Formats: sequence, structure tokens, C-alpha cells
Amino acid sequence: MNSLAPKYSYRRLMIKLCLELFKRPRTLNKRLTIKNLKIFFLYWQKSFRCNVCGSMGKPLFDFPDAELRDLHKIGLLRETLQCQKCGATNRDRTLSHGILSEFYIRTGILHNSIYALSRLGLQGITIFDSDAFSPISRQLKGLTGYTCSSYFPGRDFGDLLGPGHYNIDIQKIDFENNSFDIILSSDMMEHVRDIDAAHEEIFRILAVGGVYLFNVPYDSSLDLNRILVDTSGEVDIFIEQPHYHGDPLTGAILAYRIFGKQIFKDISNIGFCLDFELINNAQNLIVNGDLFRAVKKIN
Ligand SMILES: [Zn+2]
Repeated sequence: MNSLAPKYSYRRLMIKLCLELFKRPRTLNKRLTIKNLKIFFLYWQKSFRCNVCGSMGKPLFDFPDAELRDLHKIGLLRETLQCQKCGATNRDRTLSHGILSEFYIRTGILHNSIYALSRLGLQGITIFDSDAFSPISRQLKGLTGYTCSSYFPGRDFGDLLGPGHYNIDIQKIDFENNSFDIILSSDMMEHVRDIDAAHEEIFRILAVGGVYLFNVPYDSSLDLNRILVDTSGEVDIFIEQPHYHGDPLTGAILAYRIFGKQIFKDISNIGFCLDFELINNAQNLIVNGDLFRAVKKIN
């Protein structure tokens, strides 16, 4: 299968779309729209350098379901325009841009990709990545100073799952205070039940002056977070139709909220200084990439 229709190729996408035609023809109608065709023709021949794996190539536009993306408040281009070599999406490249900028600030070296950065090692900088399977994680796994995690509630938290890879509950993290210089999370926090506990734990394990780089489904028109599930009691109470997002481990994962401007106040109250940036970079094909940068202030 991989040699005939490599991962992240248009050939593989065609096979998936044909299968969908039989399984869920209504969904396919929402994907093969005029708007998506226009976007496809806009981007399919655009050359770019993937700032994750470092390769030059053209993107894979996978004809996302616009209705579903809008419901989840996830931009139409955010999870697509994949690198055909490593699978990095627009969102992955946005986070990668944040990591590379952070290394430039700390070391004075501007790498053009996470791959190039990994060739030189982390140079004493410590990273905790809450995603162990992303294209970024695949480049950094095994490096001294790089720790990643997954969430398996059926297993003991703190267990080692592989080299530098731990089973972690982000609401109660098994690491010492001030352990990491950089912490990464990418579309994870909407799935965490107790968001305040998670933010406090990230603050606790981050070194003073350290940076927490993340992205989440964010609707800047909202003052408060849009609560999808009431978690004030012991049992979840659904306020809206459940929102499930794709997940590499479980297939589908429940979202508890869509973030509004409230996130700035909540995170600042803990002691972070929070910035938000929309990144556009033609060279790396980053289109309206949303990136939060929270610094643990030096008192
Ligand atoms: Zn790539």
C-alpha cells in the first residue's frame, strides 16, 4: 500500500475519498465543494520548505469538511496543507515556527527546520512535548533533553512508555518543579477536563523564564470560553451536542470547550505573560497559523 499510494500523497487521498463514497456519501458532498476545489487549485502547485522535516515539496490539501471545521471553530486550512514527506500540517508548521524562533532567541542560531535543529541537538535546552506522535515529536524523539508524553488512563501515570516517553496526566504531572525550558501542546487543552489544574501544572514544571508554546481551538469573537461540557460536578453534563475531534490514539476524543479571550485572563492569573500571534509565512506555507506563547515571568 505504502509504495503504491504513499502516506500523505494525493494517490492515498483518492483511495480514502473513494472508500468514503461508499461508507459516508453525505460527508463526501461536504468535502468536494466548489470552495475546496478553488483552494486546491490555489495551493496544489505551491512549492514550500517544510520547517519540520526540512524537505522542499508541494502540499497535500485533503478537502476538509468545512461545516464540521466551522462547528469546531477550527480554521479550514489549519489541519491540512500537509507536507507530503512528513505529514506536517499547517498547524504543525505553526508550532514548529514557534520552536525555531525560541531556539533563535536562546542560542542565536536560526534553523530552517526541526530536522536541522535535531542534527545539532538541543544544546542544554529541555523540552516537554505533550504529543509523542506528531511529525515534530518524530524529529526530536531520542535527543538528550527531549521528553514527551501520552495519556493512557488505564495505566499507571509516570510509567515509562519508551525512551523519554511517559504516561502523563496533564492535570497532575509527575515531574519536579522548574524542570523544562520549553513546553509544547498542540490542540490538547480543549480535551482536558480540569483546565485550571492543567495550566497550573504546566506553570509549575516550567523553568522561570521558560516558555509554553501552544495552540487550541480559539474564537477571538468570544469573551468567555464556550463551555461544551459542564465539568463542575463529578459527572460530565453535555451542554451542546458532543464535539469529537480526530485523535491518533483513540480515533475520536471529546472536546470540553472552545477557548475565548478568557484564556488571557486565566493564564495571566497563574503568573504567565501570554501573547497570541497569527503567523503567515509563504516560504514555509504557514497560513493564518495560530500560536500562543506564554512566558513564566521572572519575579
Ligand atoms: Zn515535512
